Amino acid sequence: MNELVKTTIDNLVKRNITGHYFKEPEALKNKVVELVAPGSSVIICGSVTADETGVRDYFLNNEDKYKILNPYKKGLSPAASVEIRRQGLLADVSIMGLNAITIDGEIINTDGSGNRVAGLIFGPKKVIIVCGTNKIVKNIQEGVDRIKNIAAPMNSTRLNKKTPCVKTGNCKECLVDDCICSATAVLRRSFFKDRIYVLFIEGKWGY
Ligand code: SF4
Repeated sequence: MNELVKTTIDNLVKRNITGHYFKEPEALKNKVVELVAPGSSVIICGSVTADETGVRDYFLNNEDKYKILNPYKKGLSPAASVEIRRQGLLADVSIMGLNAITIDGEIINTDGSGNRVAGLIFGPKKVIIVCGTNKIVKNIQEGVDRIKNIAAPMNSTRLNKKTPCVKTGNCKECLVDDCICSATAVLRRSFFKDRIYVLFIEGKWGY
């Protein structure tokens, strides 16, 4: 583990947040599984890192062991998807990614509907965040810039949104219907101890 990651994890401890570091996706996935008790209700929020590391597939393939809340299930109506996100706010476990995390340990996310940041702040008993070391930034401003110039334009493109950043590659502060940037939240600390876990994986993962 390099000094940057070690410092970030040390700073998370001061904020009541537990950090772990992994070199390989399999080890990260195994840690997520270890943290989720069988029988738990689990919501997996939109996270390219959860997709790329196999975390999402693991839970979707083990629906007999958990109560999976999947707002992205094929064939769901928009209203049904929203209802699952609402239920996810009271899930035992929320699994998510993040957009940026400062070396000091502040977690920065921008959401479209807001269920991810809402559940990070309060609701699910446990929150597990999977995160590439590429998401570590110097400070909150760099994190916000990262969202505006990298994460949101790339996610807009992935989701086939009709937003200006899909064409320009950076934020134009849009207010169109397809905008995926409704709320930005900075989590300074966890009010509850042993609730939030950040699992870092070495390298470039997600956006
Ligand atoms: S242009 Fe709109 S969707 Fe794109 S990053 Fe800016 S606010 Fe978000």
